[in-house]
Amino acid sequence: MVFLLAFLAFTFGTIIGSFLNVVIDRAEIKESPLKGGSYCPYCRKPLVWWELIPILSFIFLKGKCSSCKHKLSWQYPLVEAITGLFFTFVVLRFFRFSFASLYMFQNINFENILIILNFLFWFYWVAVLIVISVYDLKKYLILNEVLIPAITISFIWRLILGFLISKNSFYFLPYFSRFLGDKNFVFGYYSYFPSLFLGILFFCGVISLLAWTTKEKAMGWGDAILAFFLGIILGWPESLIALIIAFLIGGGVALILLALKKKKMKGYVPFAPFLSFGALTVMLFGDIIIEKYLALLF
Ligand SMILES: [Zn+2]
Repeated sequence: MVFLLAFLAFTFGTIIGSFLNVVIDRAEIKESPLKGGSYCPYCRKPLVWWELIPILSFIFLKGKCSSCKHKLSWQYPLVEAITGLFFTFVVLRFFRFSFASLYMFQNINFENILIILNFLFWFYWVAVLIVISVYDLKKYLILNEVLIPAITISFIWRLILGFLISKNSFYFLPYFSRFLGDKNFVFGYYSYFPSLFLGILFFCGVISLLAWTTKEKAMGWGDAILAFFLGIILGWPESLIALIIAFLIGGGVALILLALKKKKMKGYVPFAPFLSFGALTVMLFGDIIIEKYLALLF
């Protein structure tokens, strides 16, 4: 059952990933991703169904357009595969929350509907973070056209969810609304709203401070807006763990690039992929990290 769902999630993820490629490509040329079918970015030939299968088409076509033979970017299969992989992780995370997840779909009540809606938001957040990261890697820019709507929708959802949790005596939803689940106690108890606002204040505060004090050399204001979004989806203390992971991985990669002399000291390193990676790691594996950490301590 879980494996079947994971397989379906992977397939669904590659299809969404294919759409995310369209969003990224068309944002560069300021075209709507919803208008018109897909076409070759070089000769603009419309693509037919067998050229539109995620990952597999790229392999059949040996990474070339069928008509103009122009080499296609590795971005296409990579974004599809990564989206598929992260969607699979989302499903597996859902089933790690508690044994109750397996029975979730058996009876439908208000709480279950909210849990499933919140679950759909995780897919949305993964998709947004992949688009923002890939665009930052390509253009050194944060794609506000995607980020600002995502902040608005997610903030409203988190407020509604918190309000409903405080008004009802839900049993499972409080766990499902926080990424560390039942491991949250490790950092002391923070109830829903203090966690939400502390997460935003902390994450956005630290990155803004870095953008301001380094005059945008280490980090830009775009990264601060992204941090605001991550604060909304993670809350506290998840935000702290995500930031630590982002700095460790980001610092490590920067050192390797410096050693390989790929980047000069002043060269700009896009930081959105590291912030996103930190956030996704906490979202999907936060509980396992805390468990391993506790096992080290005791
Ligand atoms: Zn072509």
